[in-house]
Amino acid sequence: MSEVVDHLAEMTGFRDRDVMDVTLVSALRDLLEPLSVAIFRCVGEPGQERWLTRARLELADAVATADPLWADPATLSPAEEHPVRLHCMRSRSVQQQRVGEAWLSLFPIATDREVVGVVEVHTTLKLSPAMQRMVGSVLRIYHNFQGLLEYSERDTLTGLLNRKTFEESFLKAVGELPAHAAVPPCDDGRRHEGLRPQYYLGVIDIDHFKSVNDRFGHLIGDEVLLLLSRLMRSSFRFHDLLYRFGGEEFVALMRCEDQLDAAQAFERLRLNTEHYLFPQVGHITVSVGFTQVRADDSPTSAFDRADKAVYHAKESGRNQVHNYADLIRSGQMQEQAQVSTVELF
Ligand code: GH3
Ligand code: MG
Ligand code: MG
Repeated sequence: MSEVVDHLAEMTGFRDRDVMDVTLVSALRDLLEPLSVAIFRCVGEPGQERWLTRARLELADAVATADPLWADPATLSPAEEHPVRLHCMRSRSVQQQRVGEAWLSLFPIATDREVVGVVEVHTTLKLSPAMQRMVGSVLRIYHNFQGLLEYSERDTLTGLLNRKTFEESFLKAVGELPAHAAVPPCDDGRRHEGLRPQYYLGVIDIDHFKSVNDRFGHLIGDEVLLLLSRLMRSSFRFHDLLYRFGGEEFVALMRCEDQLDAAQAFERLRLNTEHYLFPQVGHITVSVGFTQVRADDSPTSAFDRADKAVYHAKESGRNQVHNYADLIRSGQMQEQAQVSTVELF
């Protein structure tokens, strides 16, 4: 009993989802002594979902393994390859079945809104009802704590990440660059050799949003913000980080092959927005500015460049996507000293 309580204390001692998932599988390994235990999340667009391994431990593993934050969806196994996991999620019920000499037990993981994945445990013996209940209780605490984390990290209207989390998640995501310092500052349009990850940051601002509020009221304005956040989710990939920065300004942090890839994603959002029929309001447009994240960027300096490109889009007639590097190259804008020493957040 005290062992369970110790694990729960450890699991809820962090405000980091990755660490929490690792402590959950560690706890279940110590409590159940299974052959393996793993957390899988179902990610991606409806119809193209895949399994992302959040944390996994085998009997002999010293540390848990996981898919990287920016895993290429094509490398993850398609959802339908594991029908038992899907069944566990859809029925929201524990599944147990024999697999050769071992037993496979699956437990659904839910947030307040939906079931998002499963915990999968391989054991030599079938889990007793008491063991199942204990896992269920641990998962309920995990779930409640995840809910609290969500609440503190997300914007309540749109469910996107809030501005408060930007700096930390920016540094964490971009810090994943291998040889971080070796990546040259390259807002220069060159394609870079090899598979060096590139990060792009875009600022998205609704055009003439004040007039939407003035004509239709704040409630309808809020609905537009909510619908636009859905368009953002469907225009970017599941692992891109999407924020509402406040008001009608949004930020996307994405990992791309090159700037063409990034430009296409932002252009897709611009077009999807232009063509979407917002109830009562009709059509609205967005202006977008983006920039490649540089090795020596602070969250503020990257944001500032993208914001300048948005300003240019507004000045040039709105409903446009502009790449900061192109504006500098074409002489439409002057490169300015980095503002990284001035923290705006
Ligand atoms: P521009 O094309 O230059 O961006 O024009 P704009 O009207 O979108 O820009 P401006 O920054 O002048 O106005 C932003 C407006 O966004 C002001 C305010 O009425 C509205 N707004 C800010 N936050 C919220 C919110 O949470 N809900 C709603 N409904 N409106 C908001
Ligand atoms: Mg605006
Ligand atoms: Mg604005």
